[in-house]
Amino acid sequence: MSELSTKCLIIGSGPAGYTAGIYTSRANLSPILIDGSQPGGQLITTTDVENFPGYPEGVSGPKMMEDFRAQAARFGLLMLSGEVTEVDFSKRPFTVKVNGGSQVITADTVIIATGAAARYLGLPDEQKYLGMGVSACATCDGFFFRNRPVAVVGGGDTACEEAEYLSHLASKVYMIVRKDYLRASKYMQAKVMDNPKIEVLFNTQTVSLFGEETLEGAHLVSHKGTENESEFDIAVEGFFLAIGHSPNTAVFGDAIELDEQGYIVTRGKSTATSVDGVFAAGDVADPVYQQAISAAGSGCRAALDAERFIMMNMGD
Ligand code: NDP
Repeated sequence: MSELSTKCLIIGSGPAGYTAGIYTSRANLSPILIDGSQPGGQLITTTDVENFPGYPEGVSGPKMMEDFRAQAARFGLLMLSGEVTEVDFSKRPFTVKVNGGSQVITADTVIIATGAAARYLGLPDEQKYLGMGVSACATCDGFFFRNRPVAVVGGGDTACEEAEYLSHLASKVYMIVRKDYLRASKYMQAKVMDNPKIEVLFNTQTVSLFGEETLEGAHLVSHKGTENESEFDIAVEGFFLAIGHSPNTAVFGDAIELDEQGYIVTRGKSTATSVDGVFAAGDVADPVYQQAISAAGSGCRAALDAERFIMMNMGD
């Protein structure tokens, strides 16, 4: 077991975590960042990022996170691999255990930037075909479905982005949308609707999935509960979930106040949580905006909040 201590521990390595790392390093807080189960966060599985200012030609998600990491490294941020498995926020300094206690870190302040993870429909078949046709990441798994038919579930920006991405690989892309409209931005809606390889199935829900060993199709119902209700099958070998995200807060249990959806509750316009000295930034505390740029902005705010907290409470 190894032990470390720091003025500021950052948990998570998406735009919020790295930005907090850049600011707290430059403020001489000698921060430590734990990079979590998916270093780089959700942007690692994103293709093109076209709306992050400073990249006029757009940038791939992984490249952008590489840039964030390199910038944080330049200011001396100590970045450790591992997953936080236990926290004790009942007294300061706070204690955080990594990888079941193989590493223990004590910290005067903590910035939680653990992000959010893809949601599933909750059908038993999703687990059955996970890795055998079911996926929540088109950019990770789309490659396996070249020239094969696939479906994307959801009608938001993520679903449209994934459908658009998959249309360059798959033979056909169905979008399964439970309402009679897409929730995505007008720009993404147009891209999807104008793409001849994408067929949007509005008012449609998934009943079950089928296939011998790997996925062969989905059993769907349209206009459920109305006089026009009808059931039908589509032949698909890939089934991609893009129905939003759940915050990664399980490890914090009762240590901190969460809302009914599990997002961390922050106070007013600050990043302060229910525990003095613990701050939250990025998607883990943001059910609304969930953008790389807003996550990075809140990482900056959390770093400034932590710095002020140390100044007020630790006298340096
Ligand atoms: P959203 O919450 O925006 O959309 C989720 C979609 O999934 C909705 O169409 C929703 O349907 C549907 N859905 C949810 N639960 C179910 C279910 N049980 N069964 C069937 N369908 C379901 O999530 P996103 O991940 O798309 O986006 C999150 C945020 O990130 C948004 O603010 C989005 O704008 C942003 N984003 C921006 C991007 C960009 O600008 N490049 C790229 C990706 C995301 P319903 O509408 O009926 O609720």
